[in-house]
Amino acid sequence: MLDELEPWSGLLSDPKRRAAYEAYAEGWEGRIGAFLQFSPDEPAGRRGAGQAAAKPAARLAAAGPAGRDPAEPAAAPTTEQGPTGALALVPFAVKDNIAVEGFRMTCGSRILEDYRPPYTATCVARLQAEGALVVGKTNLDEFGMGSSCDNSAFARTSNPYDSALVAGGSSGGSAAAVAAGLVPFALGTDTGGSVRQPANFCGVYGLKPSYGAVSRFGLAAYASSLEGAGVLGRSIDVVEEVFRAMVGVDPLDQTTVAGPGRPGTEAAEPKSVGVVRGLGGLDPAVEAAYRGALAALADSGLRLVELDLPMLDYVLPAYYTIATAEASANLARYTGIAYGRRCAGAENPDDLVRRSRGEGFGDEVKLRVLVGTFVLRSGFQDRYYHKAQTLRRAIRDELAGALREVDLIAMPVFPTQAFAHGDSGMDQFQQKMADKFTCTANLAGLPALAVPTGLSGGLPTGIQLLAASFREDRLFSCARRLAPAFPLPEPPSFSREFLR
Ligand code: GLN
Repeated sequence: MLDELEPWSGLLSDPKRRAAYEAYAEGWEGRIGAFLQFSPDEPAGRRGAGQAAAKPAARLAAAGPAGRDPAEPAAAPTTEQGPTGALALVPFAVKDNIAVEGFRMTCGSRILEDYRPPYTATCVARLQAEGALVVGKTNLDEFGMGSSCDNSAFARTSNPYDSALVAGGSSGGSAAAVAAGLVPFALGTDTGGSVRQPANFCGVYGLKPSYGAVSRFGLAAYASSLEGAGVLGRSIDVVEEVFRAMVGVDPLDQTTVAGPGRPGTEAAEPKSVGVVRGLGGLDPAVEAAYRGALAALADSGLRLVELDLPMLDYVLPAYYTIATAEASANLARYTGIAYGRRCAGAENPDDLVRRSRGEGFGDEVKLRVLVGTFVLRSGFQDRYYHKAQTLRRAIRDELAGALREVDLIAMPVFPTQAFAHGDSGMDQFQQKMADKFTCTANLAGLPALAVPTGLSGGLPTGIQLLAASFREDRLFSCARRLAPAFPLPEPPSFSREFLR
C-alpha cells in the first residue's frame, strides 16, 4: 500500500480515530456541503441486505478478466489480519451519479430523489475488490450538467478555500471532499470537464481517463460518447493507484478496450510538450499561473513546442450539440413509470410522463433536453447534429496529428479561478463558453489531467495536460516532474490530526 494511504487504512474500524474523523468531517460539511449522503457505517450494514438485490446484474454478467464478476459486490482479498488489497480499508467518496449498492443514487435530481440502485458500478466494485470502503455520495450538478455544483436540486457545495465561491462542477462534491481532506480520493465523472474543472478550483489532481479505458457500467448516462469515470486525489501516486485498480475491459461495457500503452507496459518518459499558440481570454491570475507552469515544465527538462490548433474554435458548438443530443435521448428513460419520481393524480399516461418530468427535472436539464431534441429533429439533423459530428472528427484528427509530433499537450483547465455562487458569479452561458479547454479531450476521447500549481490570491490554480489515447502513463510521469515545483496547497483549517 502507498505510504500516504497507510494512515487511512482501518480508520473507520478504530473507534478513537474514527470519532475524531467524524467530528472533523462534520465541521467541514457545515461549511462546504460536499456530501449528499455521508454514511461510513453503510459498508458493513449493507452487505447482507444488498446481496439478493445484486443477483439480476450478476446473472447478466460474464466473468471479468480476473475471473471475477465485475458487477458483484466487493470480495476483497483477505487474510487473518484482514483485507490485503492495495486499498485495504481505505475510505473514499463517490459522485452521486455512480451506482453503489446500499446507497441512494440521486444524480442531484428530484426525479431520482429516492432511487436505490440494485447494483454497483464496475469502477466502484473494482476499488471495493481492492478493499476500499465507500463512505458517502457526493454532490453534483443535476445529471452532471454544469460547472459549479449550484445546479444540484438538493444543496450547493462550496469551495474549501472560500465558502462564498463554488467548488466547480459537476463533480464539485468529490473535489471539495478531497481538498478538505475528508477522503484521500474520490470518484467523479467527466463528460466535458467535470472532474478536471472542480479539481482545478479546489487545488487537487483530477484525471479523466481515455474513453474506453474504464468501464461506464453503473454510471447514470448523460452523454454516453463523451463521458467516463475519473479520479480526484491529493497526489499523483494515489490517482495512478486508483486508476490502475479501475482500468480494464468489462463485459458489461462494450466500449471498454484493452488499449496499448497501459501504464507500465510501454512506459517511456515524455520528452516534449505542445503549447497551444494564441490562447486568449484567460483571467490574469490564470494566465500568470499557466505561464509559470509552462516554465516549470521546461525547467523539468521537457521541450516546449508551439502548436496551432485552429479546430479549438469549434470545440464548444460541437460539444454542446452532441452532449445535448445524447442527453435528450438518455434522459428519455425518466418517465415516472419504471422508476424515479412519479407525479400524483395523473389523468392519463401522457399526463403522468409530462408532469413527472416537469416536476422532477431542474431548469438546466430541461433546457438541454429541449436543445437536444431540437438538434435531432428530422430535417434539422444535417444542419446541427451531423455537422457537429463532422467537426468532432476534425478536432480528433487535428489532436491526433499534434500528438504524433509531441508527447503531451498543455492547456489551461478553465479561464477563471473559482467564481462566486449564484448570480454574482458566472451565468450559465458564460460557464458553457468557458468549457473550451476541457471539452476538447472528451470530443477526442483522450486522457487528460488537471495538475494543481499552488495558489494565487488565496485560490487554487492549475494546468491541464492531454496525451494520446491510452497514454495515461505520460500524464503521470509529467505530473511527477512538476510536483516538486508545486507542493499541494491546503485550505484553511485543513488537518491530518485524526489520522494519528
Ligand atoms: N460543464 C460541462 C457540461 O455542463 C461539464 C459536464 C460534465 O463533464 N459532466 O456539460
